[in-house]
Amino acid sequence: MIKNNSDFLVIGSGIAGLCFAINASRYGTVSVITKKQDSESNTNYAQGGIACVIDPSDSFEKHIFDTLACGHGLCNEKAVRILVEEGPSRIKELIDWGVDFSRVPQAKNDYRLHLGNEGGHSVNRIVHARDLTGKAVEEKLLDIVRASKNIRLYEHHCAVELITDHHLPRQQGKIVHSYGAYVLDTITRTIFTLQSKIPSLHPVVQARYISIRRTPPSPPETGSPWPIAPAR
Ligand SMILES: Cc1cc2nc3c(=O)[nH]c(=O)nc-3n(C[C@H](O)[C@H](O)[C@H](O)COP(=O)(O)OP(=O)(O)OC[C@H]3O[C@@H](n4cnc5c(N)ncnc54)[C@H](O)[C@@H]3O)c2cc1C
Repeated sequence: MIKNNSDFLVIGSGIAGLCFAINASRYGTVSVITKKQDSESNTNYAQGGIACVIDPSDSFEKHIFDTLACGHGLCNEKAVRILVEEGPSRIKELIDWGVDFSRVPQAKNDYRLHLGNEGGHSVNRIVHARDLTGKAVEEKLLDIVRASKNIRLYEHHCAVELITDHHLPRQQGKIVHSYGAYVLDTITRTIFTLQSKIPSLHPVVQARYISIRRTPPSPPETGSPWPIAPAR
């Protein structure tokens, strides 16, 4: 059974999925599925804050250096560079969307972000909303998503498999496109198809399989790496 067609299918309602959905909704219709209630995500439990180069005494090179040092050889340097260099514009985007990060009151009309420090950072660079940063971000993004005419949010809907070319007999073995996902409605216990031109997974890492992985202690995670799409 096909339940809905949309231009974009987003799997996961944490910071990654919701940011993608909000941006994508400017270009077409978006379905966001999430396997529990909408706010249930690691994002909602994150407390400390988001590391970002803001302070004039800081630099991208310092942040990259600190990150690689803490990663102890495990980090992909190219990915770290993208993450660090895009940080300021992503924080600006969150502020523009209304996330109320903690500020340092200065002179009149001059409120700079308060920057905390955490292990491994040589400069104060933790942008935070008191000590409930993730909740502040999640709530604001959900407000925008709920108000958007172009976004439909499906709570208690769990992706079980991506639909790709490997489902077509003529394309055996090849994965060229994805057309959506098979989704389990965990309330009615029925499986159906959500079709989309562009599926996008947001609770995932890419390894041999694109997997759902658990970051303790967030309760909605399935607990076991759960392959829903073979890697290219
Ligand atoms: C207690 C705690 C504290 C943290 N503190 C910090 C911090 O201070 N700073 C920091 O940078 N990071 C912190 N983190 C890590 C941070 O929360 C995560 O890196 C970040 O929230 C990941 O965002 P995400 O959108 O990728 O995933 P998530 O927020 O985990 O969202 C994943 C979403 O996918 C959904 N989902 C999963 N599988 C499926 C499926 N099969 N079908 C449908 N939906 C599915 C989940 O229900 C969820 O909505 C913390 C994490 C925790 C748990």
